[in-house]
Amino acid sequence: MPKMTDHPDRTAAGRNFIRAIIAADVEAGKHGGAVVTRFPPEPNGFLHIGHAKAICLSFGAAAEHGGVTHLRFDDTNPETENELYVRSIQEDVRWLGFDWGDHLYFASDYFERLYEYAVELIEAGLAYVDSASEEEIREYRGTVTEPGRPTAYRERSVAENLDLFRRMREGDFEDGAHVLRAKIDLASSNMLMRDPVLYRIRHADHYRTGGDWCIYPLYDFTHCLSDSIEGITHSLCTLEFDNNRELYDWILDHLEVPQPQPRQYEFARLNVEYTLLSKRNLLRLVEEERVEGWDDPRMPTVAGMRRRGIPASALRAFCDMIGVAKTENRVDFAKLEYAIRDELNPIAPRVMCVLRPLKLVVDNFPEGKLEELEAPYFPEDVGKEGSRLVPFTRELLIERDDFEEDPPKGFRRLVPGGEVRLRYGYVVRCADVVKDENGVVTEVHCTYDPETKGGSTPDGRKVKGTIHWVSASHSLPTEVRLYDRLFSVPDPEKGGDAEDFTVHLNPDSLTVLTDSRIEPSIKADPADTTYQFERTGYFVHDGVDSRPDHLVFNRTVTLRDSWAKARKAAEVGAAGREAAENGAEEARPSKTAREPTGGKGSVGVRVRDHR
Ligand code: ATP
Ligand code: MG
Repeated sequence: MPKMTDHPDRTAAGRNFIRAIIAADVEAGKHGGAVVTRFPPEPNGFLHIGHAKAICLSFGAAAEHGGVTHLRFDDTNPETENELYVRSIQEDVRWLGFDWGDHLYFASDYFERLYEYAVELIEAGLAYVDSASEEEIREYRGTVTEPGRPTAYRERSVAENLDLFRRMREGDFEDGAHVLRAKIDLASSNMLMRDPVLYRIRHADHYRTGGDWCIYPLYDFTHCLSDSIEGITHSLCTLEFDNNRELYDWILDHLEVPQPQPRQYEFARLNVEYTLLSKRNLLRLVEEERVEGWDDPRMPTVAGMRRRGIPASALRAFCDMIGVAKTENRVDFAKLEYAIRDELNPIAPRVMCVLRPLKLVVDNFPEGKLEELEAPYFPEDVGKEGSRLVPFTRELLIERDDFEEDPPKGFRRLVPGGEVRLRYGYVVRCADVVKDENGVVTEVHCTYDPETKGGSTPDGRKVKGTIHWVSASHSLPTEVRLYDRLFSVPDPEKGGDAEDFTVHLNPDSLTVLTDSRIEPSIKADPADTTYQFERTGYFVHDGVDSRPDHLVFNRTVTLRDSWAKARKAAEVGAAGREAAENGAEEARPSKTAREPTGGKGSVGVRVRDHR
């Protein structure tokens, strides 16, 4: 039984066409009603969100029928594969919430059996050693409109083929001197059936078999036979393998393999806007240090998304949401963000963090006084309990954006002479500002109304805006990393090989804020808590760089689709910043505060591009 740990989102069991096929097979008693699927990554990179879709499908479809799913490393390319990837892939599949139990396999463990199967094909006159060069073979294969032609080696005798193939294995030849090809049909309308190459010579050490082999089987030969060896019933893969199915079946049909044979089914691969999912290109981003590594929070990799704070449940929910179809499309990034917010909203405690601080001095609040205000962790509509105390002092910090000396129309935060509500605190009125020699506001002075504790106004006067804040003296310094889309165009690989996709990297994909300040309550929490920083988004400690003496928070996702809004706002010519935010939430009653020190000179905002 596959153990699917904790999958409330799976109970809905949305049926897609693949699951419908499997259900029908089970009903018909095919394979004795058993369902065995596999997830077959090549260990040449980290898993990404597309793999997550394939994993959810293969594991989910088997679990639906009490079946099992194998994790099989499809490791037949010695040059690009390694143990690091094997480990990361296992960690990622487990983190996603799936368990292969005892069924961990490696195609490289089948090398001997695959060799024997190849000999079987040669003996049956169905495979031959071709000594033509790679270019020649390609040329002789013909085109879609022209049939292929035999090379000079197609009619070699079985004995000669057996002898050459054995000597290929023994290392008698250089790379490229010979290949083993299936003898099928050089005129087939399916190019893959025109005597496909099954084995090639590669004098390279393999991360598992070392120097044992110098011939390696190709994907098409390895995959169907690995499926057969493991007793896979339904082999699910992406659409680009559509044409490979005929070859998959041909190989199994022409060898003595257990019956019934596995069957291959194809589904549309996942593409997501503003990122790319080809391992080759993701590897380039890593190798060229365009990102910090495979687990950079901007990467669409499972490791990157985990570090960014995206919960596994959100990824599973996303995979359910997008469904499984037969036609490819690009999924809007906002869909994933929606799934993330949907998962985090009910569980993320609300705290206050000021990203870009501006000092707010409460002139009529005694120096040295500290008032502790009780603030709930969850808004009422989430229905969870819990609160913390937030220190209120004479010197506070607010977002630089929440004060405007010369406010645009509709600005509902702090303005000279105006009032604003400090979340869980008091209503304050702006009295004065202090500027530096360049005219930049460095301090805002205000008075607070002691009658408005908790945010309500006893005289019923209207205060439109509510802003978040922290105590200048009692907050903790933190670095905050804001992530945006990795690429600035929806399909960065659109230009194909003619264009370098890296030209589309978004130069603003990472913003590092080094002067942010967070309320002190978070010190008591486990390091993996995901928070909602009020009004700014969902955040989590960076699992690599955050330490108690140097906090680093990653923004998982903004609260709303500020990006789409900003884009729209830019089109309309409105203030994009205002669109991204507002003070609409009404403050809930709560308690009070404490005293300022420090914080001087800490109001500057340094933004550095970290790439
Ligand atoms: P490459 O990017 O080089 O084509 P790959 O992503 O296909 O490699 P594999 O390790 O071969 O890498 O993939 C393992 C499995 O994941 C395969 O069954 C493949 O069909 C599936 N898969 C890969 N990419 C996607 C995707 N974008 N959407 C859905 N499934 C995918
Ligand atoms: Mg592949």
